[in-house]
Amino acid sequence: MDPSEPKTGKADAATCHVESENSGSRASSENTFCIGSDHFSELDPLMDLSALTDEKNGIIEKTVIGVLYRLPVAMMIIENNGKIRYVNRKFINVLGYSLDDIPTTEEWFKVAFPQIGLSCETITQWHDLLNRMFSPARDKEDIELQIQCKNMDLRHFHLSFTDLGHMGVIALQDISVSKDLENQVKYREKQQAAVASIGAQAICADDIDDLMQFTVEKVASTLGVEFCSVLEKLPQGEFLLRWGTGWEDWCIGAVIIPDESYTHTGYTAREKEPVIINDLFTETRFKGHSLLHAHDVTSGITMMIGNAERLFGILAVYSTNTRNFTEDDTLFLQEITNILIETVEMHMTMRQLQLFRELINRSNDLVLIIDGVTGHVKYANEKVFSYLGPQGYSRLQEEPHLSTLIQSVDHGQILERLNVSNAFTSEDVFTSHDNIIYDLEINFTRVDDNERKYILAIARDITRKKTAELELKSYAQQLHDSNKMKDIFTDIISHDLLNPASNIKGFTELLLENETDEQKLWMLSCIASNNEKLINIMETTSIFSRLDSMSSLEFNDIDLLPLCKSSIEMFQHQISQKGLDVVLEIEGPYIAKAHPVIQNAFCNLISNAIKYSSNGERIIVGIEGTNDMWKIIVTDFGEGIADPKKPVIFDRFSRATSGNTVGKGLGLSIVKRIIELHTGNVGVDDNPCGKGSVFWFTVHKGMDQSVFQ
Ligand code: ADP
Repeated sequence: MDPSEPKTGKADAATCHVESENSGSRASSENTFCIGSDHFSELDPLMDLSALTDEKNGIIEKTVIGVLYRLPVAMMIIENNGKIRYVNRKFINVLGYSLDDIPTTEEWFKVAFPQIGLSCETITQWHDLLNRMFSPARDKEDIELQIQCKNMDLRHFHLSFTDLGHMGVIALQDISVSKDLENQVKYREKQQAAVASIGAQAICADDIDDLMQFTVEKVASTLGVEFCSVLEKLPQGEFLLRWGTGWEDWCIGAVIIPDESYTHTGYTAREKEPVIINDLFTETRFKGHSLLHAHDVTSGITMMIGNAERLFGILAVYSTNTRNFTEDDTLFLQEITNILIETVEMHMTMRQLQLFRELINRSNDLVLIIDGVTGHVKYANEKVFSYLGPQGYSRLQEEPHLSTLIQSVDHGQILERLNVSNAFTSEDVFTSHDNIIYDLEINFTRVDDNERKYILAIARDITRKKTAELELKSYAQQLHDSNKMKDIFTDIISHDLLNPASNIKGFTELLLENETDEQKLWMLSCIASNNEKLINIMETTSIFSRLDSMSSLEFNDIDLLPLCKSSIEMFQHQISQKGLDVVLEIEGPYIAKAHPVIQNAFCNLISNAIKYSSNGERIIVGIEGTNDMWKIIVTDFGEGIADPKKPVIFDRFSRATSGNTVGKGLGLSIVKRIIELHTGNVGVDDNPCGKGSVFWFTVHKGMDQSVFQ
């Protein structure tokens, strides 16, 4: 049987000992109450009638007990000495405690409020409450309390008191559901307030650092957790604990979390959605970074700031207690990460804009943005102002119009041209404040922004270019004139000087043949040899001059073998005079893409080899094939060339020999020029077989080698 089930007779008095000072109202109470009444409010008149306290009237007592027992509201009756006299069925059903569990208010207090603990303060509070209930002032306002039921559930109750003099009735209404809802609403309101304050901070944040630090602190306090951090994704892929709260100081700006799936952060970046840890110690998806274990973290939630394509970082929240993160928490964090990514991107765009503006300002060009319809100057970079000077600047400030800057063309005309093609370039003259005239090359581009049309004008100062152009023109003219002079000189050499020299040669040879006088013969041979040198110099100079002014030659397939042989034959006289042994290590044919002038290169190398060899020495002439080139090699066993001289002997008028050998230092420069025109190479090495030099040049092979075989 239910211990609160009403009993009859005296036994009932043990369960509910009540005394009445006013028994005269019994009849009235009989009329008012019947067993099974569902209306607790009707108890008040009963209390006033004090029928409850009438010990003598068993029927009334039974009625009252019956009413109390069946009331749909949990109820307890306590004495002013702290003894609990009665708890009804609803009380037992809802809270689970019977009168045996809680004979006194202190006992009840011990079991029903254990989360507060039996501190002196809380007992005092309870006694205060009881005192107030039984005080003459009768100040008994309703209160709300969180009570632990016998099944350990924590529930919210609304407590209302009715004073019966030395006893009091406490009605307990379970308001847990509405309280939970209210708490949820309050919590959501708190989150919304946090979102609003972070949003407000984001709008006016000059510094992203301040916003991030504000955010982590706000999020941690709103969710009631110890740790919150923003882990910034580094270019290398790891995450830096850049902003945080709750962590030891040294961690901030120092701890790097690897982008690995064993870390909560790395796992989140891979999952691309919020990752909640209920209990880190039983977590199986990842083991978690040592930072979490070092800080005794139990629960947590992480969320991406940005998305997989543009991930700024991870927002992470942790607590040392077990914590169930709700859908509301996730939504709240989602709102926060949205604010953060938008602010970060806005800052990046602003920074880029700032940089862009800075670059335009530092540009060497004058940059203007003009309203295409009105001609108003919307923007001018610093370069424009530096050209305008202070006066021009204030003039442009007063009249910010294109006509203030350029008179020759108006914005309407520019726009008309831009309607045909989106951009065009024109040249104009600009007079600065101090009357300096600048030549400008202006590029106009049309920029459409919705309905508005703008003209972007980028002007470049081409004053120096123009001056240089003029100088270049006059220089080109001078060059042309001097080239002409050179050509005339070359012609004079080849025709007007060479002819008389050839005449001298002819007559001298004739005289030499007929002369018998020794002294005259000696003088004639001096004239002949000097004249020979003169002719040689004139011929070489004339060849070089022609080659120098040539930019290309016309090539044909030429066999180098006969060319080489005939070149040696030309020097047969000198070869015999010096008793030289010229070895031809060639068989041929060697078809090259060449111009007949190449024979000059052969002649020069063979002539030098003869010139710089001592009597009776050997000269070897060979041709080797390498890939698509022929390499012509002339080896002598003469005096050789010192290493420092090797790079310069191919320059004009450069001579390595200090001895008596006759020469002007032009021959090798002619070889070099001829080979350059053949896009080949030329060089000199030491003779590997002892003293002497190896001169060589390369020339491209001809098209079809077989034709000549
Ligand atoms: P040059 O008319 O003086 O011979 P080159 O241009 O033909 O003019 O030669 C330049 C210099 O290179 C020469 O003065 C000489 O010192 C050096 N030289 C050229 N060929 C040889 C060689 N086969 N052996 C030694 N020295 C040489």
